[in-house]
Amino acid sequence: MRESWQERFAGTPDVLIDVEVGVRAGARREGTLVPVRDFVVGGDEFIVMAGPCAVETERQLMATAEQVRRAGARILRGGAFKPRTSPYSFHGLGLEGLKLLAKAREETGLAVVTEVMSECDVPMVAEFADILQIGSRSMENYSLLEAAAHSGRPILLKRGMVATIADLLRSAQLILENGNRDVILCERGIRTFETAMRNTFDAAGIALLKEITHLPVIADPSHAAGCRDLVPALARIAVAAGADGLIVEVHPDPDHAWSDGEQSLDFAEFDAMMVGLAPWIALREHSWGLQHAAEARALEAVG
Ligand code: PEP
Ligand code: MN
Repeated sequence: MRESWQERFAGTPDVLIDVEVGVRAGARREGTLVPVRDFVVGGDEFIVMAGPCAVETERQLMATAEQVRRAGARILRGGAFKPRTSPYSFHGLGLEGLKLLAKAREETGLAVVTEVMSECDVPMVAEFADILQIGSRSMENYSLLEAAAHSGRPILLKRGMVATIADLLRSAQLILENGNRDVILCERGIRTFETAMRNTFDAAGIALLKEITHLPVIADPSHAAGCRDLVPALARIAVAAGADGLIVEVHPDPDHAWSDGEQSLDFAEFDAMMVGLAPWIALREHSWGLQHAAEARALEAVG
């Protein structure tokens, strides 16, 4: 007999959908809702997080925040602590960057997601951010995960670039076990033999995570693609795969960005991506409605 996903990922029971309850209640619609300020991630609304890779200057951040808010984003992203491939690259503004993020939140009403890289920094980052981002390079840093879990803030857990789905689920399980149920999973591309893109976007991973876990799943088309031309297409794929939202890099002048400029959209490109996504998001809502109605009919038939 075919092994069930529950059997396959038996070590991470808290993140998996309870099959009995899931089937009866309509698993997809009964997933975990992660509250962020005055909205939720994982509900009916498709949530877009957008902003620069790194907080650089007040001008850069404020202009980007205002722009992405106008285009429909709910959450401002921006790194104040940056993990970088080279030790000689820009590593972020630290506390000064966190203060700028808080200022942008005050001015725009956007929530703020930002990465925390060290367990020592958790209290400080949690003071300024609405969501703590655990980066790809930190996904298996269990002491950081535990400290972040205890911060009381929702956690955006990015999949490690060489992490399997089972590895990602184990990290999520650890956060839940430490008393924090507000976990958002993020597919951001994995390393494969393909080198044309920065990473390989695992759309099937998104579909699988939505199928077997009750946690919200978002996609990061920017780090998956590594080049801005592909970002809108990957964003559409993410919607079709069942993602609950996106995290996208946007910069006023990508060619002069201090990090990840090649994959950052400028303001016009971000606007165009959002306009292009609208019908796909509408289709997602429509198909959810149909699915719900079908489930209700199936339940009635069973009695
Ligand atoms: C980022 O979001 O800027 C980032 C560094 O992402 P990742 O951890 O997925 O590489
Ligand atoms: Mn980046």
